Amino acid sequence: MFSFKPVKEENTESCSVEGGDCCTPKPKGKAACPSCGEKAKGVLELTLESLLSDEAKEKLDCLDGFYYCKTPTCKTVYFRDETVLTQEDVTVVVGLKEGVTPATVCYCFEWTKEKIQAELEATGETVALEDIKAKMDDPGCSCETLNPSGGCCLGDVGKVIKALKQ
Ligand SMILES: [Zn+2]
Repeated sequence: MFSFKPVKEENTESCSVEGGDCCTPKPKGKAACPSCGEKAKGVLELTLESLLSDEAKEKLDCLDGFYYCKTPTCKTVYFRDETVLTQEDVTVVVGLKEGVTPATVCYCFEWTKEKIQAELEATGETVALEDIKAKMDDPGCSCETLNPSGGCCLGDVGKVIKALKQ
């Protein structure tokens, strides 16, 4: 039996609705955060699908085309044009933002600033990078669905260690 579906009204403001197949992840280039003005990288739809609260998802027509602001002092976590999402909209603590606990840096293998700091205090060194690199090979990481940045944490972990050592 055929059923006639009403043609969806075109709403192509931020995502391309064609044949009902909305939102192909296409993070491209960088965009300036509307809150802090810093350049931010695009994130996959999959990342937002995994990390946004249900309430936040309900407010959005689609999860495509967002950028991730990693400026520590900026309250904005994700943005797309005028739409801004903050820690309240995200189900994990965004560890790179100032003053949060736990300050998670590696979401796949649960390395936090607190844990690295404790290691440094105890031994003067941290195995964070070695541990993460070893586990990336086996069992492998899931940055796209666990890390708010949607990407590899190694650069951030390196920066955190350097900062804590100073
Ligand atoms: Zn920002």
